[in-house]
Amino acid sequence: MSATIIDGKAIAARVRAGVAGEVEAFTRQTGRAPGLATVLVGEDPASAVYVGGKQRACVEVGMVPFDRRLPAEAVFEEVAEELDGLNADGAVSGVLLQLPLPAHLDGPTLSAMIAPEKDVDGLTPVNAGLLSLGRPGLRPCTPCGVMELLTQTDVQLEGAEAVVVGRSNLFGKPMAQLLLERNATVTVCHSRTRDLREVCARAEVLIAAVGRARLIERDFVKPGAVVIDVGMNRLTPEQAGNRSGLVGDVDYQAVAEIASAITPVPGGVGPMTIAFLLRNTLQAARYHAQPQALLVEADREAP
Ligand code: NAP
Repeated sequence: MSATIIDGKAIAARVRAGVAGEVEAFTRQTGRAPGLATVLVGEDPASAVYVGGKQRACVEVGMVPFDRRLPAEAVFEEVAEELDGLNADGAVSGVLLQLPLPAHLDGPTLSAMIAPEKDVDGLTPVNAGLLSLGRPGLRPCTPCGVMELLTQTDVQLEGAEAVVVGRSNLFGKPMAQLLLERNATVTVCHSRTRDLREVCARAEVLIAAVGRARLIERDFVKPGAVVIDVGMNRLTPEQAGNRSGLVGDVDYQAVAEIASAITPVPGGVGPMTIAFLLRNTLQAARYHAQPQALLVEADREAP
């Protein structure tokens, strides 16, 4: 194996420590700690684990958690009412509606009801539009986390061929926009892409967010490419053998032999998502305390 392993756990820990320090200063200055509200509808065990992780992370950096749970049979109006209440609550800086929702609920419409200045997932039309215009706003956590991994690994993005596999609103589209902002030449692939293998093999930076275990094989990857694996796929015990049941979208063992750097699963992109959720919550809290702060911070971070 020759690739550098990009240690998302360590990089995320540094981001979280930085957020904790900034939260302390913010709380001292304003007299109020940032608050993060999570809304979970139903009892999906994986979603409950994710929400629990977010709540704990929030407490660890000195933020106030608001844990709202509704039964699986909650109707649209009940979820909307919960979101309205959180939008109006001055103690709540950020609101996150845990997805996926039960099938009878319209996720995109409910997500769009979150006040844009509290939309820490960056999924509302206002924040998605601001990102697409290259303007400051709250940006989706996982793509921001990937940008931080690339930055910390000193990956040269200007002029680089970047390929993103997956075009979801949550990840693929905002990822492509962030890469464009850093002057990469970006190609976005999806289920209808002709000859995925050939397109991926052009990439100097290859980012996979598909949800198909080990879709990206060794010959999809240009030797020396940087490979970021966003996928999280649970294998059955029979598929997993002795190894962990969680694998990414990339055939890690084979690809690590030819890539220059690669993220593992677990321990790569995953920890960055929560770290950037905390960073976004702090950014939202600053926005409430001083509406210009969001713009200033985003301008400072712009390339
Ligand atoms: P999604 O909404 O299901 O989108 C999947 C994308 O992959 C779609 O654009 C789809 O194309 C494309 N696709 C499906 N099969 C394909 C194929 N055979 N070839 C090429 N493209 C294909 O999923 P998502 O929310 O973006 O998540 C993707 C993966 O990332 C999942 O495993 C998820 O668990 C993981 N994830 C991890 C984190 C984290 O924190 N680590 C965060 C977000 C997501 P179409 O648009 O044509 O259908």
